[in-house]
Amino acid sequence: MFTPFRNRVLDTLRYQDMLPLSKPKALAPKTFSAEIEQVISQNGLELFQVTPVDISSWASDESTALSSLSDFVSERVDDYRDTRDFPSIEGTSKLSAAMNVGLLSPRQCLQAATQGMPPPFDGISDGVRTWIGELIWREFYLHVMWGFPKICKGLAFKADTENVPWRHDVEEFERWKSGTTGFPMVDAAMHQLNSTGWMHNRLRMLTATFLSKHLLIDWRWGERYFMSQLIDGHFASNNGGWQWAASTGTDAAPYFRFLSPTRQSQRFDVQGVYIKHWIPALADVPSKVLHKPGHQQLLDAGYPEPMVDLAEARERCLAAFRG
Ligand SMILES: Cc1cc2nc3c(=O)[nH]c(=O)nc-3n(C[C@H](O)[C@H](O)[C@H](O)COP(=O)(O)OP(=O)(O)OC[C@H]3O[C@@H](n4cnc5c(N)ncnc54)[C@H](O)[C@@H]3O)c2cc1C
Repeated sequence: MFTPFRNRVLDTLRYQDMLPLSKPKALAPKTFSAEIEQVISQNGLELFQVTPVDISSWASDESTALSSLSDFVSERVDDYRDTRDFPSIEGTSKLSAAMNVGLLSPRQCLQAATQGMPPPFDGISDGVRTWIGELIWREFYLHVMWGFPKICKGLAFKADTENVPWRHDVEEFERWKSGTTGFPMVDAAMHQLNSTGWMHNRLRMLTATFLSKHLLIDWRWGERYFMSQLIDGHFASNNGGWQWAASTGTDAAPYFRFLSPTRQSQRFDVQGVYIKHWIPALADVPSKVLHKPGHQQLLDAGYPEPMVDLAEARERCLAAFRG
């Protein structure tokens, strides 16, 4: 469970300094076994092609990564709690790729954000506190992988969810991948992923929920597709995010979570700035129409009909989980 894990991390940090650890010894090169290759090609899907994207704006050396960290900490982190959920605002750090390729460590991030102050971080802003929570999510999912290596073999964290009759509908999966579901917020996000190799966290949650809950398609297909496209692809965080969305993971939410594509766009992209940016064909459609999939003005703009009825999809998913 995340909350006790986070408390334990913060407790531990009270008694250590947060300076980066020294450089580790180089490991001998490893080869992968045939068993791993077999796991990769399971479920009958071939590995996806990686779409070439422009990577020039991402840090590719340590000093650039450190200066991005320093810019974020001095200019944006204090507003992080208020801005991080709005995909049209550059409210998050965009440091995940640098962390995942080892240009930056979470300790360096923590050190920069708190200026070396130990927990309980008296006087830090809500933005910094929230951001530290996100760094701890990354650690949490790494620990889940360490403690439950079965998740690396394509298994659900919650064993009973293996009984859910996940669908393997290739045509519907293709519509999700190509951003032609008929739900503007979902489609805009898939266009962002396919053209840049990155997607905002709120939309990773939404698109993953849409695939695994509304379409009831095997979350492992989506997990693998994300991994093939993301510039910050990180097995533990990606698997954790997918299992969170599909309700097969560590999450102890006492209710069954759905994120509605229409409510999410109304809340987090009310003016449609993000949607219009990624789906230019909708640029002239009035903003409020963007939150009404199937509306005649969307169809007139050449945009597709919604591929599912949200209420029916929800019922189908609940029935599948009830067994
Ligand atoms: C379905 C799904 C798939 C995901 N796949 C990945 C992935 O492959 N690689 C990846 O790094 N993150 C993944 N995430 C987590 C999160 O979306 C990204 O870390 C975040 O969007 C990166 O942007 P940022 O650097 O601006 O994050 P910020 O908001 O600035 O957060 C700071 C750092 O905290 C960590 N972090 C933030 N949110 C999470 C989270 N929910 N879980 C774990 N770590 C987090 C990241 O290292 C991030 O760089 C996924 C989330 C979901 C829901």
